[in-house]
Amino acid sequence: MATKLPEAPKVGMVSLGCPKNLVDSERILTKLRSDGYQLSGDYSGADVVLVNTCGFLDSAKEESLEAIGEAMAENGRVIVTGCMGKEAEVIRTRFPDVLAITGAHQYEEVVGAVHTAAPMPPSAYLNLVPDSGLKLTPRHYSYLKISEGCNHRCAFCIIPALRGDLVSRRPDAILREAEKLVAAGTKELLVISQDTSAYGIDIRKEPRQWKGSEVVPHMTDLARELGKIAPWVRLHYVYPYPHVDSVIPLMAEGLVLPYLDIPFQHASRDVLKAMKRPANDAKVLGRLKQWREICPDIAIRSTFVVGFPGETEEDFQYLMDWLDEAQLDRVGAFRFEPVEGAAANDLPGAVPEEIKEERYARLMEKTAAISAAKLQAKIGRTLEVIIDVVDSETGGASGRSQADAPEIDGEVHLRDAGHLTEGDIVRVAIEDADEHDLFGAPVGY
Ligand code: SF4
Repeated sequence: MATKLPEAPKVGMVSLGCPKNLVDSERILTKLRSDGYQLSGDYSGADVVLVNTCGFLDSAKEESLEAIGEAMAENGRVIVTGCMGKEAEVIRTRFPDVLAITGAHQYEEVVGAVHTAAPMPPSAYLNLVPDSGLKLTPRHYSYLKISEGCNHRCAFCIIPALRGDLVSRRPDAILREAEKLVAAGTKELLVISQDTSAYGIDIRKEPRQWKGSEVVPHMTDLARELGKIAPWVRLHYVYPYPHVDSVIPLMAEGLVLPYLDIPFQHASRDVLKAMKRPANDAKVLGRLKQWREICPDIAIRSTFVVGFPGETEEDFQYLMDWLDEAQLDRVGAFRFEPVEGAAANDLPGAVPEEIKEERYARLMEKTAAISAAKLQAKIGRTLEVIIDVVDSETGGASGRSQADAPEIDGEVHLRDAGHLTEGDIVRVAIEDADEHDLFGAPVGY
């Protein structure tokens, strides 16, 4: 018996204005086609109609409004995009029932609005790319990018020059992607960006509907919603802005992993100033203490640069003393290197290579000792571990505790674990530890 395939929704498109707008229309349609949508040549056959407007001249605006009016009259399910998206009020006043209005070059917004207005029925035949997209990570963990670019101008970094200022993704698009990843087997979402705590500052006034309520584009709100979707949610590249305090209770509640990756880079005020670092707050040590009071298991990971131009022995010693106080769980360090195009290259006070080396070695020795002591203190505890690799021949396995991100932190090595599967989250009795890793045996799920 022949199988009847589900019908993919059809999208109609009216494209007005200049060739740039036409290229935008093509890009939107290409993405919709790759998502499995069909195109409709007339209003009557379309499940939703996109009107890509032009607002260059008053006459073009009037033409755009007329086109929206025609699409509303002929079809009634209309999404407006393009240059007139800037004048959403004008459009809403004349056509209060348009489904969504997005601006020029907001491809993800338009495509998201089409997915909301005419959802694609689930079918392996319609979707050429799996729902979760094509992944380069193992099935059980996935990176989830929430924004692109950065508003800061750290002296050693050229990312803003390469990628521009911060552009946040809309929260409902992020949550939809998270749901697809989890449906495809992801257990751990690794939230990444250049500056996760700045998420949403560019679109703060644009809350989105998600599962019947509004989600504000803010790190805390997003983290809470992600915590409802995935078993493990890990936050990377968080700068210690004051509002970071509000995610700590989510960690204490178990919605988000008790783990913060905060690239402090240094502790000395003068060096941080020369680096032009954001959230350069002298009270960080006090906040670390408060965070640990609220969530005693919180693991703090950070990176530091030694030998930045102008770093004196006093600055470095200040950093060493600060590390004694901060008791960070995981630390990565770099010796400063000029990057072509970075402002730091022109700063006076270059630190000789041998001094960089010597400071790097001292810093690594200290942070390894702190990490080792912290791991020793875990012996005898039972920790949740996600399994990354199972060796059926030896019956061993390796995974990570909540305090360990893949690739950058330590591992938990398990014995008697041949029955486990990659992606399992199990409880492990910790029996031993070295400088970086833990050792133990599974005791259940
Ligand atoms: S180091 Fe990070 S915060 Fe600083 S400019 Fe680069 S991306 Fe932005």
